[in-house]
Amino acid sequence: MLELEMVSAGYGAVVAVRDITLHINRGEFVTLIGSNGAGKSTILRTISGLIKPRQGTIRFEGKRIDGLAPHSIVRAGIAHVPEGRHVFPDLSVAENLEMGGFIWRREPAQFREALDLVYSMFPKLAQRRAQMAGTLSGGEQQMLAVGRALMSRPRLLLLDEPSLGLAPKIVLEMFNLFAHLHRTTGLTILLVEQLAALTLEYTQRGYVLERGEIKLSDSSAALRSNPRVQQIYLGA
Ligand code: ATP
Repeated sequence: MLELEMVSAGYGAVVAVRDITLHINRGEFVTLIGSNGAGKSTILRTISGLIKPRQGTIRFEGKRIDGLAPHSIVRAGIAHVPEGRHVFPDLSVAENLEMGGFIWRREPAQFREALDLVYSMFPKLAQRRAQMAGTLSGGEQQMLAVGRALMSRPRLLLLDEPSLGLAPKIVLEMFNLFAHLHRTTGLTILLVEQLAALTLEYTQRGYVLERGEIKLSDSSAALRSNPRVQQIYLGA
């Protein structure tokens, strides 16, 4: 479904990720783990068109998407939940979701369907539809950020460190929600996380990124028992 081939990307003179080759099959729940600054967010930003690759190709459902504008990539079927959530604090829950559904401006029936789906998946957002997003708890804001991404009815969801700043109990709730979403809708998910132990329990397959390069790729179960992963990422 998604294929990156020898992708390099960065910021100004900094090359943050180098020669990244990875793929995600339809319906998979895949993770990209790595320490702080390894380049995980950069890979997601490159897939969603927020930064242009310096080199390499990105294909989604067989078509080249590298070089497309971010809104065209959303239209192609990829939604990105950025690190730090970035909900619009002074807009209501409903207005935030509306922003996520911008591609349905001329298709009100699609918009309605997407909104119904998000509200049925997150009843709490429905209850709080009139509340200003900035007054929601961290967990609720994360839920809203995911709901906003789902408004475009993506086939691939990119999640950037959803656990950031959340209490352990809320992190577990969030992960269970992703697993439920994956299981019940067949949505393909690429999850970027620093919480390697938890992430490898929930996902099917993973890539390990170190200093901008992919060092390992295996099933999540195999990565969990890999001595190098245990030593560096699982605190063994
Ligand atoms: P974290 O978990 O801390 O977000 P990460 O693995 O997602 O880490 P990236 O945010 O992709 O890492 O950063 C990779 C490298 O690119 C780092 O060296 C970082 O300092 C650099 N970088 C990231 N964003 C920018 C930017 N806007 N301008 C310049 N350099 C950047």
